[in-house]
Amino acid sequence: MAQKGILIVVSGFSGAGKGTLMKKLLSTYDEYVLSVSMTTRAPREGEKEGVEYFFTDRDNFEKAIENNGLIEYAEYCGNYYGTPRRYVEEQLDAGRNVILEIEIQGALKVKQRFPETLLLFVTPPNAAELEKRLKYRGTEDEETIARRLARAYEEAEGIEAYDYIVVNDNLEECVRELHCLVNASRRAPVRKTEFINNIRDELKSFAKGEC
Ligand code: 5GP
Repeated sequence: MAQKGILIVVSGFSGAGKGTLMKKLLSTYDEYVLSVSMTTRAPREGEKEGVEYFFTDRDNFEKAIENNGLIEYAEYCGNYYGTPRRYVEEQLDAGRNVILEIEIQGALKVKQRFPETLLLFVTPPNAAELEKRLKYRGTEDEETIARRLARAYEEAEGIEAYDYIVVNDNLEECVRELHCLVNASRRAPVRKTEFINNIRDELKSFAKGEC
C-alpha cells in the first residue's frame, strides 16, 4: 500500500500571494494536489467552475453540510467556503500530499479532526505590502479590500496555532521552503506511529534484563 499523503493547510491573509505560490509549488513538484473548495461567493473575472472553486448557492452548500460532504466549512466576509471530502480522502489514500488553501477557522477545524495535519501560514513581509498587493490585484472594490484588511487583523491573532510561518517575499525561495517543511514534517512522531510502535516492541526484550 502507498504511504499516505500529508494533509497540508495553507492559510494567509487575503492578498498574501497564496494562489501564485500554490501554482508554482504544483508545477515544480508532482507529489502535490490542490483541493478545490466549494463557495457561495460570485466568481471573479477569469475564474472557472471546478478550477478555482465549485461555485454554488447557499441552499446547495447547506445540503452539502447536511450530507457530511465537507471536511470543514466556514463563513468568510459573508460567503460560505468549504472543503469537499471525497477528493481529499482519495488523494491522501493514493499517497499524494493534499493542500487545502483555507482560512483560519477551517484550518483549526481540520487540525482538530486530523491532528497530523501540517498547518502553514503564508504572510507578506509587512502590512503595507499586503495592502499594495490587494490593490494591485484589482479584483476587489475599495470596500471589499477594506473588509479583507480588517479581517487580516483578526486572522493575525490566530497565527500561533500554525506549525510554521512562511514569509512570501521571493516566490522561488518560498516554494523551496514550503517543500522542505513538508518533507521535514514526515519525520514528526505523529506521522511515524508504526515505526515507533515497532521499535518499542523490539526494545521490549532488552527491558526484561535489568541494568
Ligand atoms: P477568496 O474569496 O479570496 O477566494 O477566499 C477567501 C478566503 O477563503 C481565503 O482566505 C481562502 O483561503 C478561504 N477559503 C477558500 N476555500 C476555503 C474552504 O474550503 N474552507 C475555508 N474554511 N476557507 C476557504
